[in-house]
Amino acid sequence: MSEVNFTIDGVPVRARRGQTIIQAAEDAGIYVPRLCFMKGVLPGGKCRVCTVLVNDRPQAACTQPAMEGMVVKNDTPELRGWRKSVLEMLFVEGNHFCMFCEKSGNCELQALGYRFGIDAPRFDFQFPQRVVDASHPDIILDRNRCILCGRCARTSRELDGREVVDFVGRGHKESLGVNGRRLADTGLRVTDRAVSACPVGALMPKRVGFAVPVGKRLYDARPIGSEIEDKRKGGA
Ligand code: SF4
Repeated sequence: MSEVNFTIDGVPVRARRGQTIIQAAEDAGIYVPRLCFMKGVLPGGKCRVCTVLVNDRPQAACTQPAMEGMVVKNDTPELRGWRKSVLEMLFVEGNHFCMFCEKSGNCELQALGYRFGIDAPRFDFQFPQRVVDASHPDIILDRNRCILCGRCARTSRELDGREVVDFVGRGHKESLGVNGRRLADTGLRVTDRAVSACPVGALMPKRVGFAVPVGKRLYDARPIGSEIEDKRKGGA
């Protein structure tokens, strides 16, 4: 059998064998919130924003394969609460100042904050001291905004064929390390897909931050995930 059938929030979904829940949901026009997941690279299962309930057990939708007959819950008050907590923790454990960030309006963390109605975090801000690497002529790495999703590292490895960045340290000391120590000493090019893989304003090309004016950016008009949900509605 090359197909499996299951439900998400009561909606029948047909998946190709081997597809994960998040992929099958997306094909069916159902948005499962995510941050570390990115189409085209292997899932990291890192951020846990895509947690769903599979037969009432929490699973990461980006790594869990679709199985025949399973019952998936994606949109419940409990899941919304968990996801909101994860997002709030991400906001307070880094230094995210959206109003000053050139990624504002194109940032997936910010857009999820709006989608989940986050106004003031419930947790204490950590205000960590983190190193900014501006050594590269064309790219900046601002670790203050890094949410350790790993999209850049996986993209660099899998799509660009390099090993420019990876994680160093463990637990709350984990951070993004640069092979060669400074970004300028790596072979990273501004055209590498790793640079555009960053969902927040941590890894960004220089001098293009305001090429698209505020008000015309990706998430300025519609919530993140709308483009996926449009498939189910038959277009916006
Ligand atoms: Fe994720 Fe961006 Fe940090 Fe890389 S630099 S781990 S893509 S947030």
